[in-house]
Amino acid sequence: MTTIKLHNTKTRKKEVFTPLDPENVRMYVCGPTVYDRAHLGNARPVVVFDVLYRLLRHVYGPDHVTYVRNFTDVDDKINARAAETGRAISDITAETTQWFLDDMGALGALEPDHMPRATQYIPQMVEMIEALIAKGHAYEAEGHVLFAVDSWREKYGKLSGRSIDDMIAGARVEVAPYKKNPMDFVLWKPSTDDLPGWDSPWGRGRPGWHIECSAMSYELLGESFDIHGGGNDLMFPHHENEIAQSCCAHPEGSFAKMWLHNEMLQVEGKKMSKSLGNFFTVRDLLDQGIPGEVIRFVFLSTHYRKPMDWTAEKAREAKDTLWKWRQLTDGSERHRRPHLEVLEALADDLNTPLALSVLHKKFKEANTNEDASRFLATLEVLGLGRNWRDGFQNAVEDAIETVNHLKLLEKRMEAMRREAMQSKDFSEVDQMKAALSEAGVEVRMSKSDVKLIQGANFDPAKLESLK
Ligand code: AMP
Ligand code: ZN
Repeated sequence: MTTIKLHNTKTRKKEVFTPLDPENVRMYVCGPTVYDRAHLGNARPVVVFDVLYRLLRHVYGPDHVTYVRNFTDVDDKINARAAETGRAISDITAETTQWFLDDMGALGALEPDHMPRATQYIPQMVEMIEALIAKGHAYEAEGHVLFAVDSWREKYGKLSGRSIDDMIAGARVEVAPYKKNPMDFVLWKPSTDDLPGWDSPWGRGRPGWHIECSAMSYELLGESFDIHGGGNDLMFPHHENEIAQSCCAHPEGSFAKMWLHNEMLQVEGKKMSKSLGNFFTVRDLLDQGIPGEVIRFVFLSTHYRKPMDWTAEKAREAKDTLWKWRQLTDGSERHRRPHLEVLEALADDLNTPLALSVLHKKFKEANTNEDASRFLATLEVLGLGRNWRDGFQNAVEDAIETVNHLKLLEKRMEAMRREAMQSKDFSEVDQMKAALSEAGVEVRMSKSDVKLIQGANFDPAKLESLK
């Protein structure tokens, strides 16, 4: 059996993965808050943990892995969206949930075995909060219930490596007067009549953000399970608070044995995020004709614990590679075992860039039908198998045509510019620039050449009239 090694945030070491129960390997990953389309950054943990899920299924058998990823469907951002649009909360969350599943499906992500929604687990959250109060780890104050971090002082902060005192020193938020310790966090809060709310021993209210993952993972995976994943932006406070809640409510268990965190997706060196406004959605890219398989390939080309930059150039290269690979595997059977070297790369803390470079090598060496069918079996472990997306061929052909077209236009503009330098009449160059920018193409001129770059609003239809 392949030995899997994973970097555990809890110990800050790469460790051999030994499941608590090889008959049922259990993984929980924090999912999205459903109020808007997923941006490309949100897709990174989905793809990373999909690769891990596929690897675990390959090693332990598809019926011996349970993967849970939640939907946060109660949150102030959702309430705000409903207030802005006048739409019902349930409409917004149902629509956004389906968008998420469609978009992630286009990236070749398998659906987890369970996708619990927070609003379906309110009684379990209330029960857990009651247990925390009974054990002296939480207290009620002014309609709120708070987790008392001092009741777990020794262990709180271990995952992210900070002490409560450091946290207090670093916190710049105003502290609610009813908190015993400024780091105490909300388990339950009161709701007004116009906000979603449920009856509870502490009055009508709604859960804090963190309790849902503790309640749902307990319900679906038990008090101890193997792997907990998410973006590293969730390490503190979200994951730290999940650990505090779960370990204090169920001291008989150990909660997650291993913690895995993916690094952020960046745009020009900054985290892609809604609050920074530097984001585009997965749907934007799919609508531009970039196949989900290409997006997935670009993600896999950077290790999950490194920050990654999305660039159109990477997408272009991925298209070319996948197109070649597709031609090798078209018509192949898929019965052979995947290449061991690729499995070994994945088993070494999900080294997907190494896995791809091994595939490049295998592609060059492939001669026989058997080589092709093995290649296909290997692609499938990475979620790059051929059957999950129709229309790839056309999309890639269109994309290659676009790239060729842009190359021609680059040459054309260089010539125009040379002429303009002579005649001192730049009107033609300016017109071309305006038309390109209208089509969502960024024009970068240096002394030696012209580069045309597809931007987020790139519209190939508008490019057609340009010669
Ligand atoms: P949110 O909807 O912001 O709660 O995030 C949902 C998931 O997306 C979490 O696992 C985050 O860690 C992850 N995430 C958000 N932004 C990024 C990003 N720029 N790169 C990678 N993961 C991200
Ligand atoms: Zn969570």
